[in-house]
Amino acid sequence: MKHDRKNGLDGLFRPRSVAVVGASRREGSIGRQVVSNLIRGGFAGPVYPVNPKAEVVLSVPAYRSVKAIPGPVDLAVLVVPPEVVLKVAEECGKKGVKGLVVITAGFREVGGEGVAREQKLADISKRYGMRVIGPNCMGIINTEAGFSLDASFSATLPSVGAVAMVSQSGALGEAILADAAQAGLGVAMFASVGNRVDVTAADLLGYWEDDPHVRVILLYLETVGEPQEFVEVARRVSRKKPIIAVKSGRSDAGAMAASSHTGSIAGADVAVDTMLAQCGVLRVDNFRDMFALAQALLDQPLPKGPRMAIVTNAGGPGILATDALVGLGMAVAPLLPATERALRKVLPAEASVRNPVDLIASADAARYRAALKVVVADDTVDGLVVLFVSPVMIDAAAVAQAIVEETSKCGRPVLACVMGRQRGDEAQQILRDAGLPVFRYPEDAATTLRQMLRRQRWLERRPIRLPSLTVQHAAAARVLRRKGARGWLSSAEAEAVLTAYGIPFPASRRVRSPGEAVAAAHELGWPVVLKAEAAQLLHKSEHRAVRVGLRDSDEVFAAAKDLLERLRPQFSDVRLQVQSQATGHREILIGMTRDPRYGPLYAVGLGGVQVEVLRDVAIRVGPLDGKDPQEMFAALKGAPLLGAFRGAPAVDLAMATNALLRLQKLVSDFPQIAEVEVNPFILAESGRRSVAVDGRLRLEDE
Ligand code: ADP
Ligand code: MG
Repeated sequence: MKHDRKNGLDGLFRPRSVAVVGASRREGSIGRQVVSNLIRGGFAGPVYPVNPKAEVVLSVPAYRSVKAIPGPVDLAVLVVPPEVVLKVAEECGKKGVKGLVVITAGFREVGGEGVAREQKLADISKRYGMRVIGPNCMGIINTEAGFSLDASFSATLPSVGAVAMVSQSGALGEAILADAAQAGLGVAMFASVGNRVDVTAADLLGYWEDDPHVRVILLYLETVGEPQEFVEVARRVSRKKPIIAVKSGRSDAGAMAASSHTGSIAGADVAVDTMLAQCGVLRVDNFRDMFALAQALLDQPLPKGPRMAIVTNAGGPGILATDALVGLGMAVAPLLPATERALRKVLPAEASVRNPVDLIASADAARYRAALKVVVADDTVDGLVVLFVSPVMIDAAAVAQAIVEETSKCGRPVLACVMGRQRGDEAQQILRDAGLPVFRYPEDAATTLRQMLRRQRWLERRPIRLPSLTVQHAAAARVLRRKGARGWLSSAEAEAVLTAYGIPFPASRRVRSPGEAVAAAHELGWPVVLKAEAAQLLHKSEHRAVRVGLRDSDEVFAAAKDLLERLRPQFSDVRLQVQSQATGHREILIGMTRDPRYGPLYAVGLGGVQVEVLRDVAIRVGPLDGKDPQEMFAALKGAPLLGAFRGAPAVDLAMATNALLRLQKLVSDFPQIAEVEVNPFILAESGRRSVAVDGRLRLEDE
């Protein structure tokens, strides 16, 4: 049974009554802490401690069992020993409990019988339609008025706010709540999901999607359980509200067969990174960045572009800010001449009116005010970084006040940096209270701005529907379903499959002798390329087994003779391919490796035999939409090489993007394809024919 997501989760987060099974009177026990937290939080409904040996827990009457509770129970928090969890869960199911929070550990994470126990808990959850958080978790919190639910053993009671958080780690969950409180970030809901026997991060994203109390979602992930589902939900939800993630741990991608270019270049963490980016999730390095970004997204508008104005009272920090912004792909706004003239009028002669605008150390509130008025009037500025190094003789609070008043209605993000302590603290508080993110160092402000810009770009992105592609499914199936087809296909087979899916190859003939090679070349027309093929010969050029630009019979005959004589001792099955020479002039690679966890990873790169040296590859997780291929090529460092370049015309990238989408269709139609790589696809200018000249394809058991 698939649960009704929203209603099911209301039983957990918006219960009318809560039972704590395993409520304890013992000081320092989790069972006691949970009851105490429910009371401390001011939970709106009845709290029922369940403990067969106590009449009262923390002044609340206790019950012998869940069954013995007189009224209905929406949520039950389980803090009982692992051996009795299943029995209690069953009892809760019978009682009509809607949600379980299983804090108890001793399940999948301990292996052995814990695994079986977790499976049984999943069965009970399904049988009764009871949503389960945990096991092995810290609990859940909903600060919303009318519920005020703290069903956790967290030491910190968060203040009410607009941030929802999921933590996969219980221990870190505690730290996250404490740090959020310290950062002044209020919380709407919190869930520590533990082993995720039922409720996953994706479920929670879906639950928060349309919840007006939740404006920003924070994730601490260790693994992404069901990536396909996560991608689908996160992609949708991130269009409505920002999702910020700290993801620890490495992906299984590192264990991917490193035999192909695509696989070895993709590397360990790339799959998760691209997956998160592709569904609009902002991945940050640490919790400090996460909280700063959350606050900025709550309080500030997004920058429409990358051009930032820096206003400072000290040169050094201005340069630091400049370096940080530029280093992260943003720019220092070139202010309009009119802006510089206006600044000149209000600033002393020693001040710099060029961006970064330096008001110099004597700047007081009045000078900040005058300069900011001018800068925010400049429409070329997409955002502001206002720096203030607190000098002793200046009234820092008044400066802060001036910054707030002059920028609050400017419609662009404004981030402040206050350096220097004594008088700075009060200034910081004034800025924070007004909703201005305050940083100690300009680098941190730049990091936050870059993520805000990424969010803006994500919201602007309009996906393109996939074009309809005509393919010859049956022809590919004949090769792929051939009995015993496993491992690497022969190059002829790979070519047949790719051709069936509309990835064009030049005309070619496969032959056994120099004489046959010459005859084939005559049929194909000149010039031709001659290649040696053998099952164990994967990288032909490494064995000097590719001869290009052969122009007559003598050249073909000599080359064929040489290849056969030289390679036969090593590869007994060696044969020859005579291939028409492609006329294109840029080589790219397109490929796919199936990651055991994340599914198909698609790659494009500058191709040919130099691919390992260049290592210029863009990777994305499937499914690709119609726009992904274009963006992948644009993301290559060598992208300019595909445009017009030193007299060579620009190549027809539409052919390349189409080929990648055809490759995607192929690997979705045939899940037994574990890996496929076309290298090179030789791109011609528009109007000319682009072709793949080399394809490799590996099959695995489905
Ligand atoms: P391998 O990758 O196994 O070494 P390829 O078939 O990819 O062998 O050939 C190596 C290089 O030879 C290609 O990158 C390309 O530069 C060139 N080449 C191969 N076939 C052709 C062809 N039909 N037309 C033009 N150039 C070719
Ligand atoms: Mg090749």
